[in-house]
Amino acid sequence: MTLEPGLYVAATPIGNLKDVTYRAVETLKAADRIYCEDTRQTAKLCAAYSIKTPRAAYTEHNAAKVEAEIIQALREGAAICLVSDAGTPLISDPGQRLVLAALKAGIRVFPLPGPNAAIAALSAAGAPTERFLFAGFPPAKSDARAAFFQSIANVDATLVFYEGPSRLAESLSAMAAAFGGRRAIVARELTKIYEEFDAGDLSELARKYQARPAKGEIVVIVDPPAEKPAASLDDIDTFLRRALSAMSVKDAAAAAADALQIPRKAAYERAIALKGGA
Ligand code: SAM
Repeated sequence: MTLEPGLYVAATPIGNLKDVTYRAVETLKAADRIYCEDTRQTAKLCAAYSIKTPRAAYTEHNAAKVEAEIIQALREGAAICLVSDAGTPLISDPGQRLVLAALKAGIRVFPLPGPNAAIAALSAAGAPTERFLFAGFPPAKSDARAAFFQSIANVDATLVFYEGPSRLAESLSAMAAAFGGRRAIVARELTKIYEEFDAGDLSELARKYQARPAKGEIVVIVDPPAEKPAASLDDIDTFLRRALSAMSVKDAAAAAADALQIPRKAAYERAIALKGGA
């Protein structure tokens, strides 16, 4: 197989070595070079699939240094693969500056989609998936972490975090403080022997993992905030009467529509009726 020149960003397994695409294996075999986060980790995948392509390290620490050599090779027409230790490169993993540098140099960047821990967790956790926010690793320091959770507490979406086992319990308590009693799922060791999905109320999960620290790799999924109950006609009238004492019909209707999350037209019609009645 001959590859078009360019940078191939290849997803690799997050545990189970069989979770790799045919296209990823073929591309890794045919590439001129594979850049990996940890050459020993990628060696396991290469051994399993008889991939003999030369490998070199591309890490957060050497990225600035190695980048020039990669871009030069790409400019000369090489086909280069980028992989991380597990899952999709750039997703809480190195690669963003290399992809940007390649794009700036006019080089084609090909995604080779495949495993990702956040998506794997979402696909089997049972949480709403129409809208989700992938929030990566929470900050390690408690003040920064509390502020981080607070900043996304009102986002109307399922929240997805990566977390290490040693910080899981404190993170869950900080989430409980910021998000209240929402339901959450701790998805552990996905695609591996001890795969587990543990659902419960955030405070309950925090207590549980304080008492019995978790092991392995973890994704935490938190349900979206509960929907506010729809405003009743009484609520709408009370709001509008107060607003109409200080504003025009149009402004009062707009304020009611925003505050009570009701259609503008309905708020306007009700405001006219109330004004007429008064
Ligand atoms: N790039 C990877 C991806 O696409 O998912 C993520 C890399 S990030 C450095 C590693 C974190 O991903 C782990 O600390 C854990 O939170 C999550 N993770 C990776 N593999 C996992 C697995 N098998 N089960 C649960 N979480 C996993």
